Amino acid sequence: MREWYIARAKERILPRVVKRARELGVSFRQARIVDNRYRWGSCTVRDNINLNWRLIKAPIFVVDYVIAHELAHLLESNHTPRFWNIVKTQVPNMDKARVWLREHGQILEEEV
Ligand SMILES: [Zn+2]
Repeated sequence: MREWYIARAKERILPRVVKRARELGVSFRQARIVDNRYRWGSCTVRDNINLNWRLIKAPIFVVDYVIAHELAHLLESNHTPRFWNIVKTQVPNMDKARVWLREHGQILEEEV
């Protein structure tokens, strides 16, 4: 079951990373679907984007927010006002997405 979710996450999420990176005008080294109990996504110091397979359970506007958030870190590593401006330009309803992630944080703990 988990493998199925991971495969779906790769199909559904990775192409969106490519598309959004193009829109934002940034390039990353590699985008990966990962298994992480603590984070929805991360951007590594080596410009790799990691996204939690559990995002497959989230609405698409939330997926887009997490992608935009991690890609914005390629331009601004800290959560500065400039950073949030970049994300908001990409995802106008980012506040709604952040609320969703907060309210559904328990999904990160789920086994499947
Ligand atoms: Zn961040």
